Amino acid sequence: MMSPDAALKRGGLALSETARALSTLAMMLSLAACGRFGVEGPGSPMQGAPVSGLEDRPEPDQASVLPRPTMHPADLPDVQEEIPVERKTMTEEGKVSLIIAILFDNNPYDERLTTAWGFSALVERGPHRVLFDTGGDGAILLSNMKTLGIDPGSIEAVVLSHAHKDHTGGLESLLALGLQPIVYVLPSFSSGFKAQVGEVTQVVEVAPGQVIMDGIFTTGEVVGEIPEQALVVTTEEGLVVITGCAHPGIDRMLQKARFMFGGPIRLAMGGFHLKSADDERVSHILRAFRDLGVESTAPCHCTGDRARGRFAAEYGEGFIQAGVGKVIVLPGG
Ligand SMILES: [Zn+2]
Ligand SMILES: [Zn+2]
Repeated sequence: MMSPDAALKRGGLALSETARALSTLAMMLSLAACGRFGVEGPGSPMQGAPVSGLEDRPEPDQASVLPRPTMHPADLPDVQEEIPVERKTMTEEGKVSLIIAILFDNNPYDERLTTAWGFSALVERGPHRVLFDTGGDGAILLSNMKTLGIDPGSIEAVVLSHAHKDHTGGLESLLALGLQPIVYVLPSFSSGFKAQVGEVTQVVEVAPGQVIMDGIFTTGEVVGEIPEQALVVTTEEGLVVITGCAHPGIDRMLQKARFMFGGPIRLAMGGFHLKSADDERVSHILRAFRDLGVESTAPCHCTGDRARGRFAAEYGEGFIQAGVGKVIVLPGG
């Protein structure tokens, strides 16, 4: 098992890689006033009305008792370091790096950012930036992006994992800025939602294995009571799979990703939907992770503290403490 840090440093890369990554994310932000947009059709996730029995539930008690991260100052050593613009997405060898920044999560990490129920992560691979999910609140999403120095205008595409508002709720504010990223949704999203977003920008119903950007793919719709898609990034050292809630089962979603794209799973991260799972279920998932050869993991959002503790114990150095503001850098992606 290679630790994430070891993986990050492999190939002679120094900690300043993290600084370069953060500098990559450090772009000037110009926020326009947020307003309502479009027509809200019945059943639209944007409307904000939770679907009875399906909406994710916050866990305020658990969220408030999570220990403060202790790694943060150490793994962000040279945040202020200036780097030449032309090198901003390249490693020493000139290979494209993969950078994943968690912009919205109910688990704390970077104390400057606001914690709220939901999930959103910015994926940067080479010159491309894809936003995976938008969190549950647009104002918080934009505020967190501003704090991290991320320009919303640099987002080329938005991929929505599933139709729950804690993953789609921030989209409205993003589009209200006048941005027109391509929005990738599941075919099963409501026609009202698709029509509403379609009034503003291009909406694409995903197909299995569809390319989002160079090296960035979707599994397509994984069927289940609540269907969902995962984002898959191919790297030289294996797959990076990001899930929003993993309602169809994190094991099933990882299996699908591996079946479709092959190779080891270098990193599995995001919401694993284990917050209400019993110990037996978590043990089953951990066995599946081992069987699938998942090398490192960064569970957050709806994984729940108990399951996160199990992953931490199982993975040791391969466990990445994730929360809002966590930036994961994978050189040579
Ligand atoms: Zn959900
Ligand atoms: Zn969720």
